[in-house]
Amino acid sequence: MARGNLWVVSAPSGAGKTSLVRALMDREAGLRFSISYTTRPPREGEVDGEDYCFVDEARFREMIEGGEFLEHAQVFGNRYGTARAQVERELESGCSVLLEIDWQGAEQVRRMMPEARSIFILPPSREELESRLRGRGTDSDAVIERRLREAHAELLQWSNFDYAIINDDFDRALQDLRGLIHGRGEGLEADREAVRSLADRLLADTPA
Ligand code: 5GP
Repeated sequence: MARGNLWVVSAPSGAGKTSLVRALMDREAGLRFSISYTTRPPREGEVDGEDYCFVDEARFREMIEGGEFLEHAQVFGNRYGTARAQVERELESGCSVLLEIDWQGAEQVRRMMPEARSIFILPPSREELESRLRGRGTDSDAVIERRLREAHAELLQWSNFDYAIINDDFDRALQDLRGLIHGRGEGLEADREAVRSLADRLLADTPA
């Protein structure tokens, strides 16, 4: 059986990545979502083993030492990692796998598995980015301010990704994502310049 494809999706938080990825997973039966490990405490409504596998620092360190991670990184003061075995199992069985991880993880995956394809999702404006961060209603002002700075750091990385999608219109962005998964990424190349100027604007409008 042919090995599945590995997809990496990254975005600044507030780009609407999670909703897009959820909608994508609902529609793509052959695509598996890799459930990450994290030391972050669960948010209200998050379920262990579904949203994340929630572990403590000691267990996370054990997993690093045991070489259990395909990639791992510190994001917003918490650790996150992708379990290698789970991903390998799915790819070997012919399923494609999607990793929703930050740019540091994406960089590690690119090195470890050069055949992986990476997608960066951008919010349409700084206002939209901030309003999505606030609309979530689960984080304090200090956390939002920090996330805007982190968004800046994440945005600096967009050009290292194979594809970039602007999440202005949800349905259009979802259609673009599905097109990519099905090997139809050509149309997006023409948009690269539009993405570059948006990224420049977003970088100018977010605190470094
Ligand atoms: P959140 O805590 O808001 O769910 O996620 C925070 C950030 O951590 C997001 O940018 C998300 O993509 C990233 N993240 C989630 N899981 C992983 C992972 O397994 N590895 C890495 N490197 N980043 C992750």
